[in-house]
Parts: sequence; C-alpha cells; structure tokens
Amino acid sequence: MKFPTFLTFLAQLAATQACLTDIERQGGHIIDLKAHSARGVINRRQANIGTVPVATGDRFQNGIIAPRGLGSNPNATFDSILNIGEIKSAVLGLAKRYGKDKVEYFELPHKTYENRTMYGAKIGGNGKKGNRGYKVLLESGIHSRERGGPDHLIYFIADLLQAAKENKGLVYGGMSYSAALVQSALAQGIIIIPVVNPDGLAFDQATDSCWRKNRNPARAIDGEPSSIGVDLNRNFAPVWNFTQAFAPGIDPSSDDPKSEIYHGTGPLSEPETKNVDWTLDQFPDLGWFLDLHSPATLVLYGWCHDSNQALDRSQSWQNATFDGKRGVVPDKPGFEYKEFLEQKDWDALTLAAARVAGGMTDSTGRFYRALQAPHLYPSSGCSADQGLIRAALDPKKKKVYGIGVEFGMWNEEVECKFYPTEETHRLNMIESSTAFMELLLTAARLG
Ligand SMILES: [Zn+2]
Repeated sequence: MKFPTFLTFLAQLAATQACLTDIERQGGHIIDLKAHSARGVINRRQANIGTVPVATGDRFQNGIIAPRGLGSNPNATFDSILNIGEIKSAVLGLAKRYGKDKVEYFELPHKTYENRTMYGAKIGGNGKKGNRGYKVLLESGIHSRERGGPDHLIYFIADLLQAAKENKGLVYGGMSYSAALVQSALAQGIIIIPVVNPDGLAFDQATDSCWRKNRNPARAIDGEPSSIGVDLNRNFAPVWNFTQAFAPGIDPSSDDPKSEIYHGTGPLSEPETKNVDWTLDQFPDLGWFLDLHSPATLVLYGWCHDSNQALDRSQSWQNATFDGKRGVVPDKPGFEYKEFLEQKDWDALTLAAARVAGGMTDSTGRFYRALQAPHLYPSSGCSADQGLIRAALDPKKKKVYGIGVEFGMWNEEVECKFYPTEETHRLNMIESSTAFMELLLTAARLG
C-alpha cells in the first residue's frame, strides 16, 4: 500500500458512513436548523467559509452557451457550484450546441411539492428512433447537500459530446480514454437526470443549511424544521416497509419525519421517485444505472438490504416467511437470511463496481473501495435496487443494474461536511467523470 493511499484509508476509517454522519444514523442532526435560521445569511456563509460558493447569475445565458468540461479542457477552473438555474441552462446549452440527434431535453410528468418541473436529456445513442437505444441512466442531486454532483454529471456529458464531435480522446488525471472509447461510450445511449431533488437543492443553495431530503411537509410538525421532507433514497419500492421486512432493532430507514432517513408515507409516494420510475418505464433498453452521491470514496452495489447469495431462491424479499429476519449483517442465530441474486446479475454488479472504483482510484490516487451496500449499513427503499425489483415483478421489463457512487471525502473544516473546497471539488470532478466513463464502458462490454 502506497503511503498516501494508506492515509486515505485511515481517514475513511475515522469518517465512517456514506451520505450520513454517525449522529444522523442515530436520528440526530449535524445542523440545528432552528438556530441556523435564526443566525441569518452572513453567519451561515461564515460557517462554511472556504467551501466552493454557489454561483450567482447564469454563465450559460439561459442555454445560449454550452458548458466545457475538464477532460477536454485541462485548464478549466471550477471556482463555483452550478446554481439550480444554471444546471438546466447548461443542458439547454448542450442541446443547442450539439443538436437534437445528440442531446434531446425532456420533462418528467410529476411536479414536485414546490411545483418544479423535473427534466432529463437523451444523450448520444445508436441511432434507433424514439426512446429505444438508451442503455445507461446517470443521475445526480438526489441528496441536495452533496454539492458538486450535478456539476460533475453536466461537465462529463459536455466533455463526451465535445470529444466525440472532434473525434478526440479524454483525459481524467491518470486515466486516458482514446477517441474510439469516447465514441463507444456515447453510442451506449445515456439518459441523464441532473437534479433528482430540485426543491431540496434550491433550499440548500439558498440557505447553506446542509439539507438532504426533499421539501414535502406532509407529516411536518409545527416548530420542527427538520420534520419537513422525505429521504428520496429511502422512498423507492425495494423492501420499503422496513418495520415488517427487517429484524427488530435494524434501522435501515425511519418512520419519524424528523429523521434524515425518513422514508415517506409509502413506496414511491414522492413525485421525484415516481419520476425516476417513470424514466425506467420510458426507456425500455436501460440496463445500467448510476446514482451519484458523496462523500465516502466508495462504490456501492445492491442488494441494499442484506448480503447477497446465489444458492437459495427462497430467501427473497418476496417471501414473507423471512419477514422480521432481514438486515442482520453478519447473520446471528435466528436471523439467518441473505438475499438471493442470480449469479450472472451478481457478477455484472461486482464487475461494474470494481471497474468504477478502480478507475476512480487510478484517476487521482485517492483510494476508492467497491462493496455491497449492507456491508456499510443495510438500507430500505434504495434507488440502486429499483431496477431489479421492477423486473422481478414484471418479466417483460429489463433488469437494470444499479450502483451508487460516493465521491470525495468529508470536509471536516466547516459546518456542513458535504460542501467541498475548490481543490477537492476539482478532484471529485476528475473521479466522478471517470466513474461515468467506466460504467459506460462496462455497459459497452457486457451489453
Ligand atoms: Zn447521498
């Protein structure tokens, strides 16, 4: 183990969980929102001084200018985070620059609680008509405080389109991709949803409040600002009803609206998760999915709720006999249960996760590990497994293999540890771009 890699490893041991701090896992909060809102804008900003600021204005001028990424322009600087308006403006700018054959903007049908319209774009593809020929879904921004995710996705797509147009390759730190690999990646057909949680993102950017959930107040309690919102990455359908499916004492999610992992009032109860599921319906050739998160220098794959095994089909989330036994890792007497996964599906997921983690490590030297999600902690209602349970319930639907990428490391210097510095934002961008590229090339290899 090289010296810097070993230091990274030690830092990971100290920092623990992906997307959540230890306090949050236990039902607490890292920010006292009542005190936070009483403090006012200037003090909020001071608490996060040294982090990359959220941009004001619109550098893409409402879709007139297209973004240029780091892989095709090594001198590019990234000294501000794209604000919520700029993210959409960037997508429109890409559509204008590269044309409808390469970039087609579309809107999603379910409006958010604050009446925002979510959107996506169809990128590249193999020339098939309509919604056919798109194999890979890339999304970011489901946890609004994980700053930089939408930026990494937008600038990566900008890189890919620019390099393909010029028939050039791309370089991300120590990783180089030839012009032929760029063409192959784009030909996979990519669907992007850059902001899965627009209400949460708008709120976090306006308040610097380290906000994770959406802004649905359906079960909010007067005087408790943390009781607003649903954790969208606990609101998907897989084993959503955790109190029934899991062993007592395992908390893969929460039914307390004040919790950072509050799972909502039912599976897919939220417009944002409905829109992701709708997207899986609309593009029947999708087979791969990457959900971008931070921080943890990890690449996670499903199942999310218990360890995998490929020998006993009866140990399945569909089998009520095992209710009350799931989520104990490692198994204990009376709680012997591991989730069945077809060997070929398990192989595909582990290969994809290992390639993505290896590529990210080789891009900057920061060590990324690939592991099955419950080996970190079990969760219910996760996005990564949505594409597997849909296919199990309806054999006409194609299986979609999902991974969660947790870019970067905690920023211990500031109030919200999810906000990067300018230096780490750039490293995160190099690594995340590599992650997208490696998943696309895995899809090209495995079909
Ligand atoms: Zn997250």
